[in-house]
Amino acid sequence: MSDNFMDVAVEEARKGMQNNEGGPFGAVIVKNGKIISKAHNKVLGTNDPSAHAEIVAIREASSILENFDLSGCELYATTMPCPMCLSAICWARIRKVYYGTSTDEVASIGFDDGMIYDILRKGASASVLEKTNVECESCRKLLDEWEKKPDKMMY
Ligand SMILES: [Zn+2]
Repeated sequence: MSDNFMDVAVEEARKGMQNNEGGPFGAVIVKNGKIISKAHNKVLGTNDPSAHAEIVAIREASSILENFDLSGCELYATTMPCPMCLSAICWARIRKVYYGTSTDEVASIGFDDGMIYDILRKGASASVLEKTNVECESCRKLLDEWEKKPDKMMY
């Protein structure tokens, strides 16, 4: 881990915060000791609730590397990534994350993702989100079609 990369993430976060683009969050993606992308939270600036720093950085790195597979990349985040970002990090096959502040620390200033962890832990019983599994043959058929698709590309 390099303090320098975290410093870049902090600088990014501060930039976004000062421009009122989003909360105090930054992320940097590094490969072979080189910065591929750096980003800050842009939820306020873009009205995109998914524009967390990590997601923005992953999108940029994927675009630059022209690959959805970011294996071998490392991510520096000023805060422990939320469940959405952790999921995106897994889908991107990033296997190493360095983070500055904890989930509890950001919850104490109003960024509480505890509700999402509740949904993940308690499943459908979490009261904040209504989820219903409907029997859907046409949805299932999509999976069969994918399975049989001869030129499918796994990701
Ligand atoms: Zn996030």
